[in-house]
Amino acid sequence: RPAIAVLALQGAFIEHEQRLQALGCDTVELRQAADLNRPFDGVVLPGGESTVQAKLLRDLRMFEPMRQRIAEGLPVLGTCAGLILLADHFRTLPVTVHRNAYGRQLGSFHAEGRWEGTGEAAETCRTADASGTPGTTRAGDDSGISPSPPLESVPLTFIRAPRIEAVGPSITPLVTLNGTPVAVRHRNQIAAAFHPELDSDNRLYETFLALTAAPG
Ligand code: GLN
Repeated sequence: RPAIAVLALQGAFIEHEQRLQALGCDTVELRQAADLNRPFDGVVLPGGESTVQAKLLRDLRMFEPMRQRIAEGLPVLGTCAGLILLADHFRTLPVTVHRNAYGRQLGSFHAEGRWEGTGEAAETCRTADASGTPGTTRAGDDSGISPSPPLESVPLTFIRAPRIEAVGPSITPLVTLNGTPVAVRHRNQIAAAFHPELDSDNRLYETFLALTAAPG
């Protein structure tokens, strides 16, 4: 089983742990520098407040060791504030983000995005339901009542989200909204402006977990 570390200083880390465990992973909470010595195959940076998280990382002397391991290739999934950490604080992810870009009235909203990363998701963790096609499992699929949304559609929950404004040439868009990337990959780093832990689509997690299973 893959062991996935979740930064657990502030924000929405419990929801990520629950999703990862449901996907067959063991989870490790990172609360202090000593936790970085525990073995894990990848790390999740949750949503929350990026300024608070960056300050806590520095105060706890976790900032530089984490930045270094990500720069050296540790697979990482950053969501919302986690995207801001990667782009603006660790500066390991070559994207420009604009914090709280969706404005006051649109502070929190739901949208349907488009999956662009077909072929990237791979089966790594064993799901409890082996009958499901990897990457397409959704709550309600087997109810027989509500029709599944189209495969390329991705549910997106935004909470005071940053906007990805510019991306470097090494960036692969994984999810777009109205043609603009809202989740991207750069080598070992995956980052999303939305909160995948709050919807039932597993593809972003599966794409991340495929990185943790890749050799090297
Ligand atoms: N607005 C937050 C920040 O700037 C991010 C919001 C979130 O993670 N849901 O860190």
